[in-house]
This record gives sequence, structure tokens and C-alpha cells, in this order.
Amino acid sequence: SMSLCDLAPAYIRAISPYQPGKPISELAREMGLEEASIVKLASNENPLGIGEQTRAAIESALADIARYPDGNGFELKDALRRRYGVAMDQIVLGNGSNDILELAARAFLGPDREAIYARHAFAVYPLATQATGARGVEVPAQDFGHDLDAMLAAITPLTRVIFIANPNNPTGTFVPGDRIEAFLGKVPDDVLVVLDEAYTEYLGPEQRYDAIAWLSRFPNLLISRTFSKAYGLAGLRVGYGLGSAAVIDLLNRVRQPFNVTSVGLAAAAAALFDDDFLARSYALNRAGMAQLTAGFTALGLEWIPSAGNFVTVKVGNGAKVNQGLLRQGVIVRPIGGYGMPEWLRVSIGLESENTRFLEALPVALG
Ligand SMILES: *Cc1c(COP(=O)(O)O)cnc(C)c1O
Repeated sequence: SMSLCDLAPAYIRAISPYQPGKPISELAREMGLEEASIVKLASNENPLGIGEQTRAAIESALADIARYPDGNGFELKDALRRRYGVAMDQIVLGNGSNDILELAARAFLGPDREAIYARHAFAVYPLATQATGARGVEVPAQDFGHDLDAMLAAITPLTRVIFIANPNNPTGTFVPGDRIEAFLGKVPDDVLVVLDEAYTEYLGPEQRYDAIAWLSRFPNLLISRTFSKAYGLAGLRVGYGLGSAAVIDLLNRVRQPFNVTSVGLAAAAAALFDDDFLARSYALNRAGMAQLTAGFTALGLEWIPSAGNFVTVKVGNGAKVNQGLLRQGVIVRPIGGYGMPEWLRVSIGLESENTRFLEALPVALG
């Protein structure tokens, strides 16, 4: 007879799990290294940590952790409303923006439905799609980024969701706002477009665009954002989705009642208004990006221009160079699982961390 696990749906058994960046504590155990000597540039975290206002909000929220969080997240939604001029019923909160992506998949996908995403796009799109039993349609990349015309051409009557990461992770590619807007004008209004803007705070002034202003024209648009990257709250897991009230209502129905923690809610509401911390994070990222890419060029390495807080560099045998870096206490992200086995993705760190990586790299390259 079939065993319990054999009877799980075939589409669940076919999932290959997400491969996260190696935690510092794990490398320390494996290599017998001091945690403090390890540099982690593997998960696009904010090397500055968090701002003072945010720390204070976290400390005061700790007093109440015996209580359930506000399941409606009033304080954070109200902060988002004030910041972005959206209505409360246009906001859904998530346990990280990963949660938002999954809520969208759960609400709109299922067996006999299709989701479209690009080759080399964020790994959670195929995962969230597959977990619903829907068919994932991967569209070939154009210069490592989204080919919007090809994505349009891939739409069928079964298509319910299109995922777009802008900037994309792990390639850092960016599609200008006017091209996304034109794309939205061509997508049938019964297909949800999930615009994942996890790195939007890192865009340069010349790249910025206002997707929130498009919501009134495109009720099938869902914008996904996170507090994990520029706001430095990756460990607390807070993200949000902005969309039409009808779409947000559906997402709220499949959401866990208390999906965001009380400490996360308080921290995010404080972080949202810490413009000084955001400006410092942006400036550090710009300087670090220049430092790393100059280092790559000096080593004769090809890299992909990135609009995020990370950059992808061609090293030959990515798995081998990664091992060489790990031996030196430097954690970056091999992206063979994204179909890019010759490349490594490196998050922008503090200047001293970038320097450690750039010194370790030629040794690892051999
Ligand atoms: C990091 C990332 C996310 C999600 O991160 P959360 O911590 O779950 O908010 C979503 N999309 C992209 C493209 C990312 O790189």
C-alpha cells in the first residue's frame, strides 16, 4: 500500500525547497570559526542594522508580547495610509512580503490555472505557484531580466497571476516604470499582476516611479513591498501588499488571523518614518555598489548592473568559488538553483565587509 507521504499531492511532492543564505552560526560550526570573524553578504540584509527610532519601538513593544498582536494591524496600516495615501482597505499585511506572494497565489491559483514568471526571477514565484497545484510558466529572460512582451505573449485563458520583480532578485535587473505601466495596460483585467518591489527603496532618483498611483486605473495590480531589506527588519518578518479593495479582501480571507507579530508591527510603523535611516542605507548601498563593481572590473570579472542592494558577478565555477569564500569566512549566495551556475550574488555590506570579500575573492578564484 502507499505510504502517508506518497499520498500527498504530486505537485507538493515535486517541490524542491527554497535554499536560503547560509546562517553565520552554521558556517561557524562547520568551519570552527568565530562568528564575529564571519562576513555574511548572502541575503540582501541591511548592513546598518536598524535605526534608533525602530529600536525604541521594539523595546516598548516587548512589554506586551504576552498579548496577541492586533490581527488587523491598525497602527501599521494607518502609518502606511499616511505615508502613501492609500485607503486602509487597500492594504494587506504579511509575515514578510513572502507571505504576500503566497497569499496572492493561494487566493488566485489552483490546479488547472497558470502563473507566469521570468527565468532567473525570484525563487518564491515558482514555489508559491507549485504549492497550489497551478502550472508555472517560465518565460525566457532578456539580458537576465524580464521580457515583458514575451510575458504578455505567454498569457492564456488559464493565466490568473503574473509575477514581476522590479528590481529582480538575484540578477538586479530593472524595468523602467513607464514600461511596466504600458504592460499593465495590455494585461487582461482578469489576470492579477503581482509587482514585487522588495528593493524599491534602493532605486536611484532617475529610476523611481510611482506604482501606487496606478492602482486606481488597474484594479488587477497588487504591489508587494517589504521591511526586510532597506528598513533592516528581515528577522522580524513584515511585508505589505497594496491593491484594490476587492483583491485585498480576498487576500485577507486566506491570511492567518495573526500573521504579523506585535513586535514586527510596532517596529515597521516606526521604521516607515525614519527617513534619515533610509537615506543612510541608500547612500551606503550606492558607495558599496561602486566599491564592489570597481573591484570586479579590476579583477576582469563580468557583472550585471544592479538596481538592488546586491550584485551578481561571473566567477566561472560558482559552487567552487563559493566554497573557497566559505573557507575564508565569507558567505555569499551561489545561484545555480536560478540557472546561473557560473555566477555568485553578493549583497552590499559595510565598506569593511566589502573589502574582506574583495580580498577573499581572488584567493577563492585560485
Ligand atoms: C527578499 C525578497 C522578498 C521577500 O522578503 P521578505 O523578507 O519575505 O519580505 C520578496 N521579493 C524579492 C524579490 C526579494 O528579494
